[in-house]
Amino acid sequence: MVDTAALASTAGVEQVVHTVAGDVAPSELGVVLPHEHVLIDLGKFFEEPTDPIERDYANAELTLENLGWVRFHHRQSRDNLVLSDVQTQIEELRQFKEAGGGTVVELTPACAGQDVSGLVALSLATSLHVVASTGVYLDEFQSELTRTMSSEQIGERMVRDITEGIDGGEIRAGIIGEMGCSWPLTVNEEKALRGAVYAQLATGASISIHPGRHPDAPGLLLDLLSSFGARLDRVVIGHLDRTVPEHDELVAVGRSGCFLEFDLFGQESSYVRYGPVDLPNDATRIKRIAALIDAGFEDQILVSHDIAVKKWLSHYGGHGYDHILKRVVPRMKEHGISDDAMQKMLVSNPARLLALSQPVGH
Ligand SMILES: [Zn+2]
Repeated sequence: MVDTAALASTAGVEQVVHTVAGDVAPSELGVVLPHEHVLIDLGKFFEEPTDPIERDYANAELTLENLGWVRFHHRQSRDNLVLSDVQTQIEELRQFKEAGGGTVVELTPACAGQDVSGLVALSLATSLHVVASTGVYLDEFQSELTRTMSSEQIGERMVRDITEGIDGGEIRAGIIGEMGCSWPLTVNEEKALRGAVYAQLATGASISIHPGRHPDAPGLLLDLLSSFGARLDRVVIGHLDRTVPEHDELVAVGRSGCFLEFDLFGQESSYVRYGPVDLPNDATRIKRIAALIDAGFEDQILVSHDIAVKKWLSHYGGHGYDHILKRVVPRMKEHGISDDAMQKMLVSNPARLLALSQPVGH
């Protein structure tokens, strides 16, 4: 028997993605990078060196003279921690477009220097779809205002950013994130997460999580989100590459139904780490992904670069936003990953991640 009432209610609903240049259909996104930063200020991570020569490097502009040092002293160069030059970033993003890219999800929250008008300029200049976010990053980045707000107030602010426009403007956020979670989770971070779930339930938007640096963090966060009533099939656990090294533990995370994001492609240094887990190289990432596809999780996998500092830009000798399309995809094929699985990771999984339901003609 056909349920005509249900048909009528779904007939009046369409799926859209909020981009900084307006709404588009999920089928128009093309290849999506679901976790990037194009304009960001991570200055709060800056650590002043004690050595006088290193201190000169730390406060100098990033050039070939200090680049070798910065590669291994990621947080000790002020200049490295800021991406603010729109013209440079247009050139960087054009490389992704020219390699076949379609959409960049810019997960920089307001407290880490989100620049919405800059994102509009980038989208117009590159003809890429750019999705902006609403979120609250790690505790040390949170503004005093956010700290005084209740989880419901944080959630209501996110709902406004998604349904009306970010920070009172007209550009609507398309995703909640990235939600910063330390290890262990702080009280302020837990409150913000509860706000994110409030906004997810009100809007249907997905939540993208930066988990703490410990293999147990994703499982604990998923349990917490679940206790808040979150839809786990609209939650991304990011940075899995540096968080969960064991296949069986990745499978356990995947069983929750969440998106499994390997978003540090191109980062291959064994000497930059802040937690107990070694950073894998790309070949190891690809092997972990291939094993997850074999275990049946291909509808949940996402891949990205999480570029957030200058040393990873191609202008500064880094891998750039086109790295996955130019170098990782061919390598994945060599590792036996099928075209069908590739299409899911690059196109259809992120389209599902970003799709929002709204009444037709909204
Ligand atoms: Zn990020």
